[in-house]
Amino acid sequence: MKILQHIKDQIKDLPTSAGVYYFLEKGTPIYIGKAINIRERVKNHFLQPTYKDDIFIEKIDQINFTQTNSEIEALLLEASLIKKHQPKFNQVWRDDKNYFYVAISKGQKPVIYITHQKNTPKTIYIGPFVEGTSLKKTLKFLRKVFPYYTSDKHPEKKCTWCHLGLCPGPKLFETPPSPEASEGLREYKKSIKKLQLVLEGKRKTALYSLKKEMEGFSKQKNFEKALEVRDKIYALENVMAHGNVISGETPATRTSSFNPWEKTEKIFRELLRSKEPISKIECYDISNIQGKQAVGSMVVFVNGKPDKSQYKKFRIKMENKPNDIAMLKEVLTRRLRHPEWGYPDAMLIDGGIAQLNVGINAKNADAKTQNIKIISIAKGKQELLIEGQKEHIPLKSLPQEIYNVIVHLDDEAHRFAISYHKNIRSREMLTE
Ligand SMILES: [Zn+2]
Repeated sequence: MKILQHIKDQIKDLPTSAGVYYFLEKGTPIYIGKAINIRERVKNHFLQPTYKDDIFIEKIDQINFTQTNSEIEALLLEASLIKKHQPKFNQVWRDDKNYFYVAISKGQKPVIYITHQKNTPKTIYIGPFVEGTSLKKTLKFLRKVFPYYTSDKHPEKKCTWCHLGLCPGPKLFETPPSPEASEGLREYKKSIKKLQLVLEGKRKTALYSLKKEMEGFSKQKNFEKALEVRDKIYALENVMAHGNVISGETPATRTSSFNPWEKTEKIFRELLRSKEPISKIECYDISNIQGKQAVGSMVVFVNGKPDKSQYKKFRIKMENKPNDIAMLKEVLTRRLRHPEWGYPDAMLIDGGIAQLNVGINAKNADAKTQNIKIISIAKGKQELLIEGQKEHIPLKSLPQEIYNVIVHLDDEAHRFAISYHKNIRSREMLTE
């Protein structure tokens, strides 16, 4: 099949991370899919079209995408977007019976199950989900965070699921309910509400509500409960950031599971001569939109992997054609005024000695940020500059693990900057 040049160009610019992609015809999404590696998946539609692809592939004039932190997030986002946009060609080959829904019964003790049919009254249906197996695995992870019942009966003693921490237990089935059981029921319903939010792709709302709950308990000096909720927050964040746990696909990124971060981190720490562990690294990129509005992009890697939820944009405020150095200074200074984002262990900056010094001065301005290690990547000379070290290190001579992380960080910062400019319009259209 002949692929049109403008499609080829668009595929080249797609990221290789997990997320959801959209095929558009004259601005309307006609097909939405999820992938562990967006670029590879989209390429396959064109290079090895199935009989399903054949009926719409030639109509596509634009490809958009939304990146996610994990495959689970992509799965949930895909479902909510298919529901919202009802793209023509997601529906041609499937009717409701082929899709999967998560059903949540209403009533005293909500029960949760997966179904093809949306025909029970007083039931909330979330979906449509395209793949049953992935959905089951996702629910299994989420059930650890939000234990639930799968049946409206429970034996008097603890069941198998109870012992695995997946079931709220026999207590809530007491008749008549003790005050403790009534309280348990109220908490169960609140917990199910949050599970519903997560399944609807509203993870942030669920996390916000958990954080409010935790603060409430702390204020009441109920620290045991507060800690319980805090563990839930961690567990949920962990599930949602979990790599590619639900399907067998292998991601084609440079961060491979054969290269555990512990080993890389040790080498990194030696290289930077840092006494502190290196876990969080930020990388900066300054770019212009059509030569007018300059924007600073910040990407964040935690333990060697991008954490997109922490990425930030800074619109440069200075006027009169500011130079690169001044813009970098502005961005770093503004970033360091945000302790609530959590400070990084290292900052990677694009540029040579001048840029490195801007970084050093910015973080030394405050005692709290003095420990951040500044490094810069001089692309012309292909060298790495490290704070406090006179020798510049040729990129080629870096240990492979470190080279991979540095290049990945740098790529990611550029990609984030570019994708932001390119997709700002389509994103406004497609995301809530
Ligand atoms: Zn149980």
